[in-house]
Order: sequence, then structure tokens, then C-alpha cells
Amino acid sequence: MATATAVKGNHIGGREVSAPSGMSTFTSVNPANHADVVGVFPRSSEEEIAEAVKAATKAFQTWSTTPAPVRGDVLLRIAERLTEEKESLAQLMSREMGKVLVEARGDVQEAIDMAKYMAGEGRRALGATYPSELRNKWAMTVRAPLGVVGCITPWNFPIAIPSWKSFAAIMAGNAVVLKPAEDTPMLAARFVEILESAGLPPGVLNVVHGLGEEAGEALLHHPDVKAISFTGSVEVGRHVAKVCGEQLKRFSLELGGKNAIVVLDDADLDLVVDGAIWGAFGTSGQRCTATSRLIVQRKVLAPLLERLVARARKLRIGPATDPATEVGAVINDTQKDRILSYIAIGKEEGATLLTGGNALTEGAFHAGSFIEPTIFSDVRKDMRIAQEEIFGPVLSVIPVDDFDEAIEVANSTPYGLSLSIYTASVHATFQAIERFDAGLVYVNAPTIGAEIQLPFGGTKQTGNGFREAGATAFDEFTEWKSVYIDYSGQLQRAQIDTEA
Ligand code: NAD
Repeated sequence: MATATAVKGNHIGGREVSAPSGMSTFTSVNPANHADVVGVFPRSSEEEIAEAVKAATKAFQTWSTTPAPVRGDVLLRIAERLTEEKESLAQLMSREMGKVLVEARGDVQEAIDMAKYMAGEGRRALGATYPSELRNKWAMTVRAPLGVVGCITPWNFPIAIPSWKSFAAIMAGNAVVLKPAEDTPMLAARFVEILESAGLPPGVLNVVHGLGEEAGEALLHHPDVKAISFTGSVEVGRHVAKVCGEQLKRFSLELGGKNAIVVLDDADLDLVVDGAIWGAFGTSGQRCTATSRLIVQRKVLAPLLERLVARARKLRIGPATDPATEVGAVINDTQKDRILSYIAIGKEEGATLLTGGNALTEGAFHAGSFIEPTIFSDVRKDMRIAQEEIFGPVLSVIPVDDFDEAIEVANSTPYGLSLSIYTASVHATFQAIERFDAGLVYVNAPTIGAEIQLPFGGTKQTGNGFREAGATAFDEFTEWKSVYIDYSGQLQRAQIDTEA
């Protein structure tokens, strides 16, 4: 693996624009080895955002009038190019973001699947016809693109999330300015290069690097940006809502989660252990859908905990670039400290630490940000570790007496992203589907593993009602037009009583 430091510029109007000398920069480093600098990037602000919006506005003129099936053909070629680059992107992702290789390949695969799906949308009718209440009159709907849209993305799915947003946006005929997370800029830089190598016209996707409070803020405020598609924390999401609300600008929010698996006493415990380990410790717990609570009926609590703890202790921790690693580093030291502070809170609140709980700092671990897979038991639903998003490899086990209490506990957080139930009962399954307050519901599977053809998003503070992925993604990026065509040759008046 090459470790040379690349100096990258923004990608605007089809070319890389080097940062002028003297401009502030920031670096992206390998979370498993902070001495490994992946790249140096410009700390952009209003000026660079304005330049990108200008390029996008120009590209929009041509792209929005390009027939949708032709736009779809470009997306199909993007799928092919991403397939060719799948391994190189996965390797880069392991280095820049710390996701283990097998999961990094999955992250890229999501983008490939999304490109194929959206390519097909190019040949599907996006509107509908309706009967008119009058004779010789035709009524239909069409979707129109918005113009220039801004996408702001987090670091935890550094190829998948930019693809969910930008592929839906560009399929609908928009042009995009993407402000990627400051922890994973190199992946965004490669992403746009690959898209353009597949034939995406210059300016349809522009990437501007920088900090949230500088480049991100400038994107939110730019008057020619018609909508903001944001994925990230609740705190920043609330700010996005405020800024966009003041401008009456459309915004979609995909925010945090406090996801849970409910285990009933008739569950297959081997299946639960596999699911909980994958859900809680995959991507080192840094998925918005990560399993952070395990709500267990008391009868099966002891045997389940015994197996779970044994498995968690066997997980191999290490650099994600090593194919043998099962749990990689967490994204950076700030996040590591945040996770450790939650572990301290859990202890103070009286939860029992069953395994883990420490940062790994000896030997090679010293160079990176590593935390042991951690399991707390005796957690109560109102403890902070059961209510707040930790975004790390920490699982809180909450014992319950019966099904009704399990549902109540599952629904007791401010979030509503992903809930799961393990049971053999058809009755309990359908009751849970009905009563879970969440955008994603899993049965006998963990809280992670969404597929791109279904809507993705959550209830309560997880979002503001939009759904990404699938055909519902177009709701974020299009405006409905209702069209009436009167071919009667005379004035016909809807809703007006006809005179006798
Ligand atoms: P974050 O909110 O810190 O940052 C997200 C993005 O917002 C980054 O690009 C950042 O630079 C930008 N940003 C920060 N301040 C800004 C500002 N003032 N104006 C404009 N942009 C600004 O989140 P993060 O730490 O990168 O990601 C983790 C969070 O994302 C977690 O809460 C996780 O649950 C959430 N997430 C949600 C989903 C979902 O679909 N629901 C998916 C992945 C991650």
C-alpha cells in the first residue's frame, strides 16, 4: 500500500483546482496510524463554494435537459467504473476511515447497487396520470429537478452516502456540490474522479473540501443552492434546519440512532449472538444503524450474556488494512475520548461492565485510536448509555420481563432509526412490526443491513420525514408539477356548478 502524501484541491467544473499558495489546509490521517497522512486538502470557504455553485449552475442547463434515459446510461457506466475500482476504493477506505476490508468492499458495493438502480430509474415513468373531473381534459404529474443541490456527508459511509445522495440528485437532473466529511476527503476526491472517468459531464458533481463551520456553512447559506441533503449528527442537523428554515430552503436530514435488538425467550440464541456481534461491533459500532442496545427477556439473559461475552472477547482488533482484523480503529482521538467518556458514564450510572471498556494503547495500537468491544449489563432504559448515541463499540444490555415492556423500552429513546426482534412467534413478529416506532424494522436479523432499493431513514429525531434510497429518494431532489391539458376547445371551470 502506497503511503505517499497527496496534496489535493477541490474538484470544480470537471477539474481539480489547486489551492492558491497561502490557503489554509487540513490533513486526513489513517485512524489506525496517525503518522500515516493520507492527504492534504484545502480549507475552503465562501469563495470556493461560490465557484462550485457557479460551475454547477452552468452544468445544470445542459444536464437537466439531457433525456433521463441518457442520464441513466451515464449512471450505468458509473456502476461499471466503480466495479472496476471496488478493490482500490476499499483499500483506500480501510486506510482513510478505518473500516475493515470486508465491510469497506460492502460500502463500495452499495454505491454500485445504487448506480445500477438509478440507471434503471432513467427509463421509468417518474410521474402519474389522473382522471379529470371534466370531459376532454387530461391531468398528469411530472417531476422537475430543483437546480443546484448541496450534499453534506459524514465519514462513516464515505462512498455509500455520497452515492445515495448524488446519484438520486443527478438522475433527477440536478447538479450537485458535495461537501464531504473532513475525516474522509480522499475518498470523495477519488469518487468524483471515477464518476467523471465514466462520462459524467463536468460540473454535474463538484467536490469542495473543508470544515463544517466554514465550507459547510457557506453551502447552507448560498442563495443559489436550492436544497440541502444532510447526513450527520443531531446537533448539526438542528443547525441545518434553522439556517435552511430561515431561507425557506428545502432540507433533508438523516441523523442519529439508538438502535436496539429485542430478544424474546423463544429466540434462537446462536442467531442472536451472530446478529448482535455483527450489529454492535461491525464498523467498530460507528454505523447510524449500529446495535447499541440489546433488550432481553430475563429467562434467556444468563445463557445469552455468557455466549455474547465469549464471542466479543475473541474479536480480533487491529488496523483495518489487515485482512485478519475484525474490529478496526475508531475514526479519531476526539471520538475515542467521547466513547471512553460514555464508558465512564455507564460505570457511574451503575451498569455492570462485562467486557472491554478500555482504549488499546500498547505497542502498535499506540499510533491509532482503538477501543475494545465493550458490553454493559444491568442497564436501565433511562440511563444515558441507553438513551444517547455513543457511536462506538459499546453494547448496553437491558433486561425486561415481557414483550410489552420490551416494546416500550425499544421505543423509549429520542431516535427512531432501526429496531429488530428475534423470536419464533408470528404473533410477536407482527405486533413488533406494528408497534416499533422506527423507519427500519428487522426480524431475526440485526439492526444493520439495509438494501438500497428500499426507503432508508427514521422517525423522531432521526430525521425530518424524508427517506433516502429507492424511488423515495426523488422526493428530496425534485419538485412536483401538476399539469392540466384541456382539449375541449372551450372554457371549462373545475368545481363550478353548471347552470341549469
Ligand atoms: P457531523 O454532524 O459532525 O458532520 C457531518 C457533516 O456535517 C460533515 O461533513 C461536517 O463537516 C458537516 N458540518 C459540521 N458542522 C457544520 C455546519 N455548521 N454547517 C454545515 N455543515 C457542517 O457528523 P459525523 O460525526 O460526521 O457523523 C456521525 C453522525 O452521523 C452520527 O450521529 C450518525 O448517526 C450520523 N449518521 C446518520 C446516518 C443516517 O442515515 N441516519 C448515516 C450515517 C451517519
